[in-house]
Amino acid sequence: MSNIEQTLSIIKPDAVERNLDQQIKTIFKNKGFKILKEKKLRLEKSEAEQFYKVHETKPFYNDLCEYLSSGTIVVMVLEKENAIKSNRNLMGATDPSKAEEGTIRRQFGKSIDKNSVHGSDSLENAKIEIDFFFKTS
Ligand code: UDP
Ligand code: MG
Repeated sequence: MSNIEQTLSIIKPDAVERNLDQQIKTIFKNKGFKILKEKKLRLEKSEAEQFYKVHETKPFYNDLCEYLSSGTIVVMVLEKENAIKSNRNLMGATDPSKAEEGTIRRQFGKSIDKNSVHGSDSLENAKIEIDFFFKTS
């Protein structure tokens, strides 16, 4: 049974500032992801707070929102068979020093906060996150 899904990917400020966005997009394409939609933007802090609302109670929430709104990001809708899990596997663990060889965070991440990429963690959150950036009405 095929299970084509869409997921939201963000190339975070630490990676965009090192001009890694084309290289990271090529990794996604080579792994069979289609980039259905894409835009480059910078969030206001209030928008980052809304995006990361699930982490509101975490001690790192304020720094996380400061960071996500600190520079340009690239947001993409990726499509593939089992896209959500497949993207999470390709990204690697949240802490780049614990991420497996061959993952994007292992290759490019600088630290647990500057870990280069975001990816939706569930079908439900993927829909919410895609709407957050791409809903037109
Ligand atoms: N984060 C952080 N410190 C922590 C845990 C997470 O700065 O101790 C940041 C990190 O950038 C991470 C984001 O918060 O990507 C969201 O955390 P989550 O646990 O959802 O990790 P992810 O889903 O991104 O792997
Ligand atoms: Mg997460």
